[in-house]
Amino acid sequence: MTQHTGWKFDNSYARLPESFYKKNAPQPVSSPKLVILNESLAESLGLNPKLLNSEDGAAIFAGNKLPNGSEPLAQAYAGHQFGHFAMLGDGRAVLLGEQVTPEGNRFDVQLKGAGRTHFSRGGDGRAALGPMLREYIISEAMEALGIPTTRSLAVVTTGDPVIRETDLPGAILTRVAASHLRVGTFQYAAGFLDIEDLQTLAEYAIVRHYPDIENDEMRYGNFLHEVVKLQANLISKWMLVGFIHGVMNTDNMTISGETIDYGPCAFMDTYDTKTVFSSIDRHGRYAYENQPKIGMWNLARFAESLLPLIDQDEDKAIEIAQNILGEFPKRYEENWLAGMRAKLGLFNEETADIHLINELLELMYQHKADYTNTFSSLTMNKLENLLLFTTKQFQVWYEKWQARLDRQEQSRDECRDLMRVSNPAVIPRNHRVEEALEAAVENGDLSVMENLLNALADPYNYDSIQEEYCSLPKPSTIPYRTFCGT
Ligand code: AMP
Ligand code: MG
Ligand code: MG
Repeated sequence: MTQHTGWKFDNSYARLPESFYKKNAPQPVSSPKLVILNESLAESLGLNPKLLNSEDGAAIFAGNKLPNGSEPLAQAYAGHQFGHFAMLGDGRAVLLGEQVTPEGNRFDVQLKGAGRTHFSRGGDGRAALGPMLREYIISEAMEALGIPTTRSLAVVTTGDPVIRETDLPGAILTRVAASHLRVGTFQYAAGFLDIEDLQTLAEYAIVRHYPDIENDEMRYGNFLHEVVKLQANLISKWMLVGFIHGVMNTDNMTISGETIDYGPCAFMDTYDTKTVFSSIDRHGRYAYENQPKIGMWNLARFAESLLPLIDQDEDKAIEIAQNILGEFPKRYEENWLAGMRAKLGLFNEETADIHLINELLELMYQHKADYTNTFSSLTMNKLENLLLFTTKQFQVWYEKWQARLDRQEQSRDECRDLMRVSNPAVIPRNHRVEEALEAAVENGDLSVMENLLNALADPYNYDSIQEEYCSLPKPSTIPYRTFCGT
């Protein structure tokens, strides 16, 4: 019996009106080579990893060969970049189609870095190996942390250099997503197409992501509400692990509630709410502390796009939309507070919990404590590794916390168990990620990345902690910087 790779495409997006995309085959590359294949993800998609781990697989992930049933296209979208509205679209990505899994779930399979498209403007449509591996590492770490995210199925090198400040090895990432519908997709429809198209898009998104509200009379308002809830959930999770997205433009915010577009993102080490890593974010628009506010701002742009569908009477539509948007800060705060309580082992609620939490955060800031290690040390009750723990103020806080734990019925073991599942011991630390990328890109040594990926796959495992992935970088006078779209 011949084995089948397992591709099973059903391309619903390609059935939307043509104004939503341009048919666009990936541009072939010189010599595709598989760098990494996510075998467990392949399996969960119904694909055969053995058959993909081959020249044939590399040719598919490079865009040189189309899998059966693929209808490649570049999606149209607009978006606010750092507050400025622009027509964008997939300038270097091609959607191969939607893979339907054996369970009947549908996932976009997209090649990022697959060559120029109708929407490329001045860009070359290509991507470099380092940033594609970086997206692979961080998106898979997010998945393991339990944070909704697009996934990474494979990275191939193309054999062609990409020209940036220097020549870099070219690569293509295969991204898997619940969909690539963005706030910016709706801004595009609202700004450039007619109301029928906008309605078609909204119906499409509802059926694809929120089928429970499909028959609601107020379904466009409810649609907005669902996205508001998922984004409040998502951004609270980012904040709880210290993740900084770095480029929260409206085209980088999904309708599905998944994290998307791992460009200049990074995890905060020293706790400082003003932290910015992205080299182009000069005014700190997307700083750690601004993420909830920006989420709200982006959702307001989404709501504006939906207004004509929400009600024909614009004033009424605005009132409805504003009420729904008002849910965002409430939901966000609730999720964040619930998450913080769990991080401190608190099962029940006391009004003063917010003060207990904020006092700890303030002390972490004052004593430049590492965000992740503060919570993991509290979890393990190993309080010798940070300066913070040696201070008098921390002692006072610690006693307050202990007294608070005493006021709930759960045992200390139960508290510790809750903390263990709420505080990752391992995150993709910037220096570890850089080291893995350097070994892979400069020396073709993938072992450093593979070891890192293994550690990141089990971030809440306190039973066999690998210290080397928890330790901080050597102090440096140069702040860590990340870059967009290389
Ligand atoms: P991003 O900052 O990744 O959200 O990308 C913003 C826009 O720039 C999107 O339309 C991308 O497709 C486009 N883009 C980024 N890099 C390139 C490139 N190398 N070539 C063409 N378009 C690009
Ligand atoms: Mg983007
Ligand atoms: Mg990007």
